[in-house]
Amino acid sequence: MSPPTITGSWSIAIHGGAGEIDRSAPADLQQAYRESLSRALAVGRDALADGAAALDVVELTVRTLEEDPLFNSGRGAAFDALGGHELDASIMDGATLACGAVAGVRTVRNPVRLARQVLERSGHVLLVGSGAEAFADALGPDLIERVANTWFDTDMRRVELERRQAAGAAPGLFAAAPWRGTVGTVVRDREGRLAAATSTGGLTGKRYGRVGDTPLIGAGTYANGLVAVSCTGIGEEFIRHGIARDVAARVQHASASLRAAADAVIRTVLRPGSGGLIAVDALGQIVVSFNTEAMYRGAATSAGRFEVGLFPGECQ
Ligand code: ASP
Repeated sequence: MSPPTITGSWSIAIHGGAGEIDRSAPADLQQAYRESLSRALAVGRDALADGAAALDVVELTVRTLEEDPLFNSGRGAAFDALGGHELDASIMDGATLACGAVAGVRTVRNPVRLARQVLERSGHVLLVGSGAEAFADALGPDLIERVANTWFDTDMRRVELERRQAAGAAPGLFAAAPWRGTVGTVVRDREGRLAAATSTGGLTGKRYGRVGDTPLIGAGTYANGLVAVSCTGIGEEFIRHGIARDVAARVQHASASLRAAADAVIRTVLRPGSGGLIAVDALGQIVVSFNTEAMYRGAATSAGRFEVGLFPGECQ
């Protein structure tokens, strides 16, 4: 693979999940999401403008979104069926195909930070549950901050769990929109390197021990020398179809444009209402594609683009 590069330019796209909100949501809530997206996007933009590497920028930006209680990752993570939180995250360096992920962690304040350490220091790609927590223990609190599981609690997510339970929704049934959310970032840096990272609390009311697409390289996250992809939606669907890698494979093997590859996967592979993705290619072109009513997202480039959006027609 020898991707074309334009040295010096950079691009970043972020998402905060698909399908959680519709146009009837209170205007102040919509505005709060736009402001949160703008804040996180500005953090990534400033780092890229300073010459930071793609891998560092995706970690930094996802960490910023994890700290924001509006999004379903880190603080503000969804509750599982037992009323606790199990968090998943992954990160991938397109330049080297190095990747790291954690699943089902309960006390790690910033799961994407631990995923980065899995990439750097574990010799493995994916650590789960108590094994991931033991790895965090070994790295120490200066590198990996730990919190009580209740630290992730927010009233907004508790109401979602209560609503879901009141509706008598069976475990495993997640077709309706409000039970989800995730954050992710894709970047092309000044050197032409690509990277992707994704982090989530998973689906509200999910079974204890359930793992979605977010920590699975090739399903929820993928990056190589040609594209970087971060997905959000009903994880089981994204796992089934290997969505992130499918987008990359269409670009790599079928010479599809990133737009054509992303739209084909979202419109013809996934069932309507499943979710969406953000992606960037080696030329720095950003694509957003989703088949839900809305998707929290933002995009910025060295050419001066800086925009966020929630609904179709904005920030494509
Ligand atoms: N994909 C995440 C999961 O299934 C949820 C989401 O993106 O909304 O865990």
